[in-house]
Amino acid sequence: MYSLADIEVDLYEVLEVHRGATTEEIRKAYRKSALANHPDKVPEDERPAAEAKFINVQKAYEILSDDDKRHLYDTHGMSAFNGSGEPGMGGGMGGMPPGFEEMFAEMFGGGMGGMPGMGGMGGMPGGGRSRRSPDDEQDYEVSLEELYKGKTVKFASTRNIICSLCKGKGGKEKATAKQCSTCDGVGLQEVITQMGQFLTKQTRPCSVCNGQGSFFSPKDKCKKCKGKQTTEEKKMLEIYIAPGSRDGEKIVLEGEADQIPGRENGDIVFKLMQEEHEVFDRAGSDLRAEIDITLAEALTGFSRVVLKHLDGRGIEITHPAGKVLSTGQVLKISGEGMPIKRSDSRGDLYLAVNVKFPDASWKPTPEMLEKLRELLPKPDPAIEASTVDEVDYDPNGNMDEFGARDAHGGSAWVDDEDDDEPAQCAAQ
Ligand SMILES: [Zn+2]
Ligand SMILES: [Zn+2]
Repeated sequence: MYSLADIEVDLYEVLEVHRGATTEEIRKAYRKSALANHPDKVPEDERPAAEAKFINVQKAYEILSDDDKRHLYDTHGMSAFNGSGEPGMGGGMGGMPPGFEEMFAEMFGGGMGGMPGMGGMGGMPGGGRSRRSPDDEQDYEVSLEELYKGKTVKFASTRNIICSLCKGKGGKEKATAKQCSTCDGVGLQEVITQMGQFLTKQTRPCSVCNGQGSFFSPKDKCKKCKGKQTTEEKKMLEIYIAPGSRDGEKIVLEGEADQIPGRENGDIVFKLMQEEHEVFDRAGSDLRAEIDITLAEALTGFSRVVLKHLDGRGIEITHPAGKVLSTGQVLKISGEGMPIKRSDSRGDLYLAVNVKFPDASWKPTPEMLEKLRELLPKPDPAIEASTVDEVDYDPNGNMDEFGARDAHGGSAWVDDEDDDEPAQCAAQ
């Protein structure tokens, strides 16, 4: 965030134009920058920065769009405009460059409501605001099963709707609202703050009339909404999560957000958040899971249900005898992935094989082992060496300790391209 208080700030840089820019180029640059930095168009957390930028862009345009002021700036720099704000700059409409108001009307749909630093320009209490009421956005957590099968969710929504009795007027049919004297009917209050060499006007909705510019006397207020213009409405809403919907996808209920008189309705927007799944990983429309098979199955084949799918179906695999399966081998099942929206097709299912070796509970007899040795392939030919040492070893070594004793060597393992588990860990 910066402000014109920084002496170094160059007004041409603020607008991102070159020093010889024509009035038309300056106007275009201003328009572009003001639109991009309009506080209503940026996310909440970027608003303060955008507001500051927005104000600076305005100030830069005020000076550069006026031939006299621009000449003054070109010859004397910012020092030509002293701290009290040079004549005309602080005086509301008087200081606005020609065409300013029209341009804003064009850019922001007429209403000047809520615009920072634009004091005294509202002039249209309650009307002329064609902006939409804010969208109501929320995250919606959904399981992979629900994304697979699809889901309809019903929920109760409570929102403000325009009062049906007064149609959003806030007062009785024949009553006329009194102009608010605090804001002169503008609906906005100015707060003047010093911003470096400039006096900056921040504008907020008037607290007396709630930004309306006018209000009804107690006896004239609408009986139903008590002058608030809106009433609460409870309503059942329904969203449909189509099979195959993805994480981050948005479901929009058009026009179901709070109503604000004089504005188009905003939407309720649900953003789908896919929960982690114990068994399945998802990438796009494909699914991935691990299956455990025993060593005997790996060697002799099998025919059984290896996994329960997201819709509860058992997935049966028949692996022929004599085709050895190894850990890390992948069985791809076409068409058993996630449904693909608006189509009959599905992604694929990838099953990563994990061969489970017998654990300590396996107590083979010497005869069994002898039989196995006979049955299984023989070892490679013995390694020839002139000297042979028989050594002791720890059968439960830990690869994390590899190189750890050495200050530099310790990082050798970690520095490896990926920090996946070392392959040795996979075959247990
Ligand atoms: Zn009412
Ligand atoms: Zn007021």
